[in-house]
Amino acid sequence: MSFSVAQAKANMHGMYGNYTGAMDNAKTTAYRAAVRAFRRRHGIAPSQYFTQECITASVSEVKELQSMLSRLGFSVGAAGIDGRFGLVDGGATGAAVEAYQRTRNLRADRIAGSMTLSALRAEYAAKTRPQSAGQTGRGIDFGKYPNFKASEFACRGGWCCDGSLHLLTEDIVAVAQRIRSHFGRPLIITKVGGVRCDALNRVTQGSIAGSQHTKGKAIDFYIPGVGVSAVLAYCRQLQSRGVIRYCYTNNTNMRGAVHVEVG
Ligand SMILES: [Zn+2]
Ligand SMILES: [Zn+2]
Repeated sequence: MSFSVAQAKANMHGMYGNYTGAMDNAKTTAYRAAVRAFRRRHGIAPSQYFTQECITASVSEVKELQSMLSRLGFSVGAAGIDGRFGLVDGGATGAAVEAYQRTRNLRADRIAGSMTLSALRAEYAAKTRPQSAGQTGRGIDFGKYPNFKASEFACRGGWCCDGSLHLLTEDIVAVAQRIRSHFGRPLIITKVGGVRCDALNRVTQGSIAGSQHTKGKAIDFYIPGVGVSAVLAYCRQLQSRGVIRYCYTNNTNMRGAVHVEVG
């Protein structure tokens, strides 16, 4: 996918206004300065070149902007969410930014600066938040799992979301009930051991991006009165029978809990 100097200029103008000047392919002093500022803002090593890494970062930030605008009802044009500001006045994306700014009493300059972006992010988050913490995602009938309530599996970051129970899969609930029934004792899911929304997962110690927790397919738990090694031994049996995909524990960030995930 080609990405011209003019396109880099249009994107650097549209986001934070780092570049101002003609949207042509000339590598001017203003362009070089904007590239340096762009790289700094993205934590990319200093240089005057708009490298592939810059293209990727730029396209993704413009896509985020375009997604928020369209979700809030401001059309970004026929090309859709393509990660590009138009070369003439920002094109349809620039027009959408301006329309948004006018309706929110922000300075209508077609530039997505920090004030425009924080207003957009707040509205977007409010709009995309799950309905309520009590919802049992994917229609799971908790009547079948007598020892559990949906809320025990919810994302409990508190600050990050309303529980994200829409992500929860029934397979992991069934596994929790099976382990609980085997030991005949309460199974306690740790505070960050149920569903994790992406925001919570990012700040959870020892987590990996795209963890099964973010898909509602993993739990970290302990069973008071039963040693970790006994819990793990049973989970390994479940793994060898194909009931779960993987289980593990460690002493660095699990603190005696066992992680179990389904595929
Ligand atoms: Zn959350
Ligand atoms: Zn885990």
